Amino acid sequence: MTKFYLTTAIDYSNGDPHLGHALEKVGADCIARYHRLRGRQVHFLMGMDEHSQSVIQAAARAGVSPREWVDRMAATFADYWRQLECSHDDWIRTTEPRHIRSVVALLERIRQRRPDDLYVADYEGLYCTGCEEFKQPSQIANGHCIEHPTLDLIPTKERNHFFRLSAYGQRLLQLIASGELRIEPAIRRNEVVRLLEDGLQDVSISRQRLPWGIPFPGDPEQTIYVWFDALINYLSATGFPDPGYDRLWPADLHVVGKGITRFHCIIWPAMLLAADLALPRLVWAHGYVQWEGTKMSKTAGTAVSLSTALERYGADALRYFLLREVGFENDGNFTWERFDARYSADLADTFGNLVSRSLSMVDRYRAASVPADSSDSPLERASQEMIGTYTRAMDAIDLQQGATLVIELATRANRFVEETAPWKLAKANNDTALDSVLANLVRTVARLAVLSAPFIPAKAQEIWGALGANRPLADVRLADLATLSVTGWKVAKPPPLFPKPEAD
Ligand SMILES: [Zn+2]
Repeated sequence: MTKFYLTTAIDYSNGDPHLGHALEKVGADCIARYHRLRGRQVHFLMGMDEHSQSVIQAAARAGVSPREWVDRMAATFADYWRQLECSHDDWIRTTEPRHIRSVVALLERIRQRRPDDLYVADYEGLYCTGCEEFKQPSQIANGHCIEHPTLDLIPTKERNHFFRLSAYGQRLLQLIASGELRIEPAIRRNEVVRLLEDGLQDVSISRQRLPWGIPFPGDPEQTIYVWFDALINYLSATGFPDPGYDRLWPADLHVVGKGITRFHCIIWPAMLLAADLALPRLVWAHGYVQWEGTKMSKTAGTAVSLSTALERYGADALRYFLLREVGFENDGNFTWERFDARYSADLADTFGNLVSRSLSMVDRYRAASVPADSSDSPLERASQEMIGTYTRAMDAIDLQQGATLVIELATRANRFVEETAPWKLAKANNDTALDSVLANLVRTVARLAVLSAPFIPAKAQEIWGALGANRPLADVRLADLATLSVTGWKVAKPPPLFPKPEAD
């Protein structure tokens, strides 16, 4: 089985997760579930970035130790990801011993292989505590970090260890041009290429006397810079440097936000090149969830909390809305009006309605037993074609298109019900035609349950359960769908899948 190792950015432990975090995790989870459906051996990693300076501040404000603070935050994040049905196989925290020893091992490996790439120098610059990095003039607008316009930049001067990033610009440009280092979407790749063409400056990889972090090997006065530390989580989760780590490494996909491509597409690959390690195959940089045109973030003010969004219609509806409406490529808006409209039109009136009427008719006309398959119908042709389009979209991480195709096929199936009018066929005792229509509908619903599962896993499971299928949903692969037979399945009365709130 082909392995597929994917990761999300690990989250800062300085505040509760918001919708921006949720979009990234739900998108990555959708990709992970899709690749399982493809029959790949998926290893899906998520985790926490726990050594940031903001952790010290947040812990102090709460009157607890940094250790107590990160434990508390890890529990909070883990609980949200459980609610959002994230199916990660591993959860790494950068305070874990397995991570710390990998960080030290990578640093030692660079030091052995490229001793000139590490050196000590004085550094003076403007530091953003939101990004946990020194900002270059191009990253500053109106005296503030572009990513964190509400935070003040802190003038900082200290002696640091440096990594000779400037030596890797040309090599990275070649690797991107040759496709060995893929960055998608293209708009993000072009941004990275521009940064590389402008020339790279060496980066500080330590901070002086920071009481929370990994001590710099051989220099106890210095702590490893949080970003250098954090990026290595993707490697430490593979067991590096123990033999066998390359069963997972290199990562097949890093999912990150568009604001941290410099770290993932420049600094991280350069670190790996310096250590003679394989590069990640693809970095996917998604856009932001916007609320009234501004980025959803802690510092920009939490306009709508993740728990409120979850309470509205449950986790599946939120997952669907984020991926269908906000999208996983460009920035997208979150509004209650759009959420309500999508829920009502796509999930309740289209998909939910199709499942409900299809199963009810099998119950009413065929004593709940699905009649023998019919070979052909306009719906069957639409359904076959959709499997191909869906596969191409999902392979290209076009999650918005994947979700759209699911609802489009449900719409087509609802039209098929109107066109064939099964109630008339029943009245006329046209058994052959009625059998064919019902079998076609149930087979389409079954396929839709499978294809919607990466987006709405719990609802897909409920539908699958009501279909009385002869095997568990988790055992079905994309390749099985074209010839899926539903003959003899015993359907149950469908649960109310997407109930509409009572009008007040
Ligand atoms: Zn910043």
